[in-house]
This record gives sequence, structure tokens and C-alpha cells, in this order.
Amino acid sequence: MSGTYLGMPAFPAAAASSTQDARLRGNLRHATHTIRDKRAKAVAELDDWARLRAAGAAVKDRTLRHLDHYLEQLEESVTAAGGQVHWAADAAEANAIVARLVRETGEREVVKVKSMATQETGLNRALAEAGISAYETDLAELIVQLGDDLPSHILVPAIHRNRGEIRDIFREQMARWGRPAPENLSDAPAELAEAARLHLREKFLTAKVAVSGANFMVADTGTLVVVESEGNGRMCLTLPETLISVVGIEKVVPTWQDLEIFLQLLPRSSTAERMNPYTSMWTGTTDGDGPRTFHLVLLDNGRTDTLADTVGRQALRCIRCSACLNVCPVYERAGGHAYGSAYPGPIGAILTPQLRGTASELDASLPYASSLCGACYEVCPVAIDIPEVLVHLRERVVQGGRVTRRGVKTVLKPAKGHAAERAAMRAAGFAFDHPGALRAGQRLAARTRRLHPRRLPGPGRAWTDTRDLPPVPAESFRDWWRRTRGEERTK
Ligand code: SF4
Repeated sequence: MSGTYLGMPAFPAAAASSTQDARLRGNLRHATHTIRDKRAKAVAELDDWARLRAAGAAVKDRTLRHLDHYLEQLEESVTAAGGQVHWAADAAEANAIVARLVRETGEREVVKVKSMATQETGLNRALAEAGISAYETDLAELIVQLGDDLPSHILVPAIHRNRGEIRDIFREQMARWGRPAPENLSDAPAELAEAARLHLREKFLTAKVAVSGANFMVADTGTLVVVESEGNGRMCLTLPETLISVVGIEKVVPTWQDLEIFLQLLPRSSTAERMNPYTSMWTGTTDGDGPRTFHLVLLDNGRTDTLADTVGRQALRCIRCSACLNVCPVYERAGGHAYGSAYPGPIGAILTPQLRGTASELDASLPYASSLCGACYEVCPVAIDIPEVLVHLRERVVQGGRVTRRGVKTVLKPAKGHAAERAAMRAAGFAFDHPGALRAGQRLAARTRRLHPRRLPGPGRAWTDTRDLPPVPAESFRDWWRRTRGEERTK
């Protein structure tokens, strides 16, 4: 890994390589099965989980329908509380705003709270190019950064690493970034955590600027919320003089009453806890308490385009709990890096092709990174029908069609390499439009069924490499109906 998603191959090629890595698969299997079992128990404790889930989905949908209104309300509330709001249309603009704000403080170092939005924009790299060092303070993000690696899971970014690998990374790399690891560091979790704690404490105590994301923003009061388990976030949010928060525009909720729903849904779905150990909330600035300057950078980067798609927009409900990753058989085997973006797993397969478009081979391959088993939908705390969006995006890749890009309606051409799929769909469309042709085709298929191969030839071969081709029945349902009921209404 080179610390960047640029130039990564399409999902099938990346997965073909990662699935060969037995250690990676072992690490992933152990971690995802442990988290998914704990989540199931935590969720089962609540009798009204289904109602809570429906309420979360409804609040998100209502907020997204009136997003312009709530964002303007949020801006007013944050400004009234002493914060400054900046609007970023894309990743480059967000990174440029943050770099400028840091430079204006005169500092050249920032500490960071774990943030998916800044992973999405590639902020650390952009800051490095501007001569600013960004230090990750979440333990797993620290492991990823020290290893010049990329996160592979939303909640546990270093899920692909085991204890021995982490010890080696700490021993070899910590000194380059600050306080070195103890020479006799073992792979015992307590020793690894202590080495990270001592290394990070120096950063917390000297940093004057922090960069965070936020899990939620309350429009009514301008309050931002970060939930976490380690306490590093709280240190970053309270000790520095300047706080810059980069947050996707879909993270707004109207009121504290709405927030209450998500503070129940998120911890049980992500870390399988009844509540997060640290829930930090801040509203603008307060004299003598916390950062003296607060900037909120509101990030679009494809979100309003996603909102324009009536099927795909449900992906914006996501609260980044990672439950869908932990149950996904494809993620468990391929690992997070194969998805080539900050968002791995089922949510990445539907969010990335909407935020970035489907023009590249990688992004066009993501909607196919699924068996459509539906386990992701079952566990999603905001009821995102991920299989529905996957099928919708596959149609977009194969057929092309109308999409919105940077606010402009445009017609997308079909992606390369799907000619056989298109021909098959056209043939199916013709047959279903012409009942006589369908009936003749079914009878011909039934009469010749003993001659049918067990494997499909040509472009269909890959499909039957891992599946049995279902045998054609001796009689179609329509013929059976007519023979047994003698009714003409089957025509
Ligand atoms: S799609 Fe649903 S299950 Fe997956 S991370 Fe988002 S909220 Fe969690």
C-alpha cells in the first residue's frame, strides 16, 4: 500500500489478489465474526429496535428532502454560536480551505480525530503537500498512518493487521513521527496500547490545531457530535486553540430529539455498546473552555448529485456504523482495500460510484462487488436497501442513462465490457414483450433440455464456474397451468 487510492485496479483484479492472502483472510474472518456476534446480542436487547430503525430512516429521509433548509439553519446556528462556516463543493476545495485555515494560524502541525470525510478527500496528503504534518490519533488510524497503509474498515481501519504486525510497525516507524516505541515492545495488547498512548500524549499536549469530522450536526443549535471509544477525540476537541471540522452535508439532523434516535442506533450497530464511552458535543466556541476558534467545512463532493437520484439517495442515510461490512461475505474474503476508496464493503459499493461517478473501471466494477444476499440490508440500522441500489447502479453501468454530475443533468454512456449483458437483457425484454415468442422459446428449451450443457459457454462461463446452471423443467408453468386448469387467462 502506498497510502493513496489513486490508480487502484478494478474490484475483480484487486480481490483476486487479496483473496490469495491467507493471513488477511484469517484476520478479517476473526474480527468480523466477533463484531457481528456482539452486535446481534446488543441489538436483541431492545424490543423496539425495528421501530427505532424505521424512525432513523424516516428522520434521515425527511432531513434529506429539506436539506437546503436544514443546512442554512445549521450555518446560522453555528455562526451565532461563534463558529465560522465554509462550503466546499469538492474534495480539492475542502482540502484547500483546511490548508489555508491551518496556515493562517502560523502552525505546521495538526492532530486529527478519526474522520471518514477527510479520508474521502485525501486531506493528509494535501496537507503534506502544503508543508503541514497531520497526526492521526485514533489507535487504528495511527497504525495505518505509521505503516504508510490505507484503512480497510470504517470502524476498525487496521482490521487487516494482527498484533505481531502492529508491534513491528510501532518498533520500526514510531521514532520517525515522534516518541519511539519501547525497545522491548511485545505484541501484548496492553503494551501496544501503552506505547501508542505515550506517543500520542506528546502530540496532544503540543498541538495548537485539530482537525475532526463529526457523526452528527444539529441544525437547531449548531451543535456537532463525535462519538468514540478511546478518548483521543475528546483530547483533540478540547485541548487545541483552533478546531477545524470537515463534515459531509448529509450529517445534519434537525433537532436534539432526532439526534436521540441515532445515539441509540449507532453504538449498538457499530461497537455493540449500549452507548459510546465518549460522546463529545460542542456548539461554536465558549470563552475559557475548549478551542477559541472553530471552523466548520461543509463538504458536498458528489452528495447533492447523489440526492438527485431517487433510488440511490438512500445511501446518504448512512451513519457509518460498519455493520454491513461485518456481515458481508464478499468483504470478509476480499478485504477493504479491494474497494479502492475510503468506503469499503457494501456501503462503499453503493456510495463510491455515486460520489465519484462510474466513469473509471474501478468505480464501474463496485456495484458488482456483492452476491446480493441481502445480509447488509438486514443489519443496516437506517434500513438502506443496499441490494436495491446495487441493482440500480448495475443498470446504470450496463445501460447508461440520465445522471446529475456537479449539479448538471447529463446522459451517461454505457460502460465498456458489458455487451453480452446488454444483449441478454434486450433478448429478455423482447421475449417478455411478446408472449408468443416466450411460449415458443420455453417449449423449444424444454424439448431440447437433455442437450443443454452444464456450463455456459462464452461470456457466461464465469457465472457457471461457481454456480450450477439450473435444469430447464420438462414443462413451463404456463403449460402446466393450462393443462391442469384448462384456463385461457394465461395468455
Ligand atoms: S449502510 Fe447501514 S449498515 Fe452500512 S455502514 Fe451505513 S448505516 Fe451502517
